[in-house]
Amino acid sequence: MLYQRSSVLFKAAQEVIPGGVNSPVRAFSAVGGTPIFAKSAKGAYVYDEDGNRFIDYINSWGPMLLGHAFPPVVDAVIEKTKQGTSFGMPTAIETEIAELAVSMVPNIDKIRFVNSGTEACMSAIRLARGFTKKDKIIKFSGCYHGHSDSFLIAAGSGAVTFGTPNSPGVTEGTAKDTLLAKYNDIENVKSLVEANKGEIASIIVEPVAGNMGCIPPVDGFLEGLRAVCDANNILLIFDEVMTGFRLAKGGVQELKNVDADIVCFGKVVGGGLPVGAFAARNEIMNHLAPLGPVYQAGTLSGNPLAMAAGLAMLKAIEEDADLMTRLGEKTKYLHEGIADALNKNNVIHTINRIGSMISVHFSEEPVVDFDSAAKGNNETFKKFFHGMLNKGIYIAPSAFETWFITDALSYEDLNETIEAVEEIAKYL
Ligand SMILES: *Cc1c(COP(=O)(O)O)cnc(C)c1O
Repeated sequence: MLYQRSSVLFKAAQEVIPGGVNSPVRAFSAVGGTPIFAKSAKGAYVYDEDGNRFIDYINSWGPMLLGHAFPPVVDAVIEKTKQGTSFGMPTAIETEIAELAVSMVPNIDKIRFVNSGTEACMSAIRLARGFTKKDKIIKFSGCYHGHSDSFLIAAGSGAVTFGTPNSPGVTEGTAKDTLLAKYNDIENVKSLVEANKGEIASIIVEPVAGNMGCIPPVDGFLEGLRAVCDANNILLIFDEVMTGFRLAKGGVQELKNVDADIVCFGKVVGGGLPVGAFAARNEIMNHLAPLGPVYQAGTLSGNPLAMAAGLAMLKAIEEDADLMTRLGEKTKYLHEGIADALNKNNVIHTINRIGSMISVHFSEEPVVDFDSAAKGNNETFKKFFHGMLNKGIYIAPSAFETWFITDALSYEDLNETIEAVEEIAKYL
């Protein structure tokens, strides 16, 4: 494949945009090569500026659960646009999508819409702190909750108890209120809580992790978190920015039958427009301004175009009784095909899958947390990534990302993908 125009565009972009991108993972730094500039997309495919067609497994990093340019979403946005793009006044559609979301997701009474997943998580933490009148939070190594200061604390820092910032610009003061725990390790969480008795406002978790590849919770992990939170007056935040409206209509709360205190949304909820949201029971949500003392706001929050896209998306999900089953079957088919292809060629790998999330790790061990995810062979991944790309299959340019399966994928597309893996596996 030729990427001539993408190369030219990337050069120009680098002159005026840091690294040529508006979000770092698009830059291909982990895999090398020139990022592909998208021109258009439809259904399961994305087309680049050079006219290449790719079967897309990124899907805008999650939102396109039903495929690109999904007609009900496109039509809803076009119609809304004609009526004006923003008012800074309440609109009826905000209540409409809120009612639908509240009816789909267990255990929530009210929801507030923001403009990104980052904003949702950042606001959820502030609300949890305001509600519990405590300062510290626990997050898990390898979980991503957006780029706000409190969350840019990761593993590898050698800090077991107190996080150290892993981005310049995050102050030590902020970092010391973020405690790091190991994913899927409830004993580790219990000892952190014990060592910080009465100080922890919230535990925030991706209830199915998707930002270190896909890592489902082990049996009892989420239930264990619920119990620790109940025993210590800690609010449990499920960051369902990736999993919400994807793994079940009601997200992981429904799938795993564990209640969270606050739930964060993004990605699918906006149907491809910039939308995030956070939601909880009345007693918690009523602490938000203007009802309560915890401040949170946004000039473009609940923007009519974003709400129209989100509403069309949620309606389509709500109305399709077989959607989750279909997605799960397609993902399972892909899993089995890829596993066969890699096994035939003796390529060491581990595949994690749940619902419409799947990740291929070039590693022998089970991948259950950040440390085990980090043991994957990155050189093999790079070869795999570029091999796939050259065969017209676009997967995330990092080994630490989930593939997102969309309902627009046909079994022909899946077969084409599996055949590509079979070819590439020969020289991995
Ligand atoms: C993508 C993501 C975020 C951040 O959302 P943005 O819209 O990129 O700010 C937060 N949490 C999780 C779990 C995510 O996958």
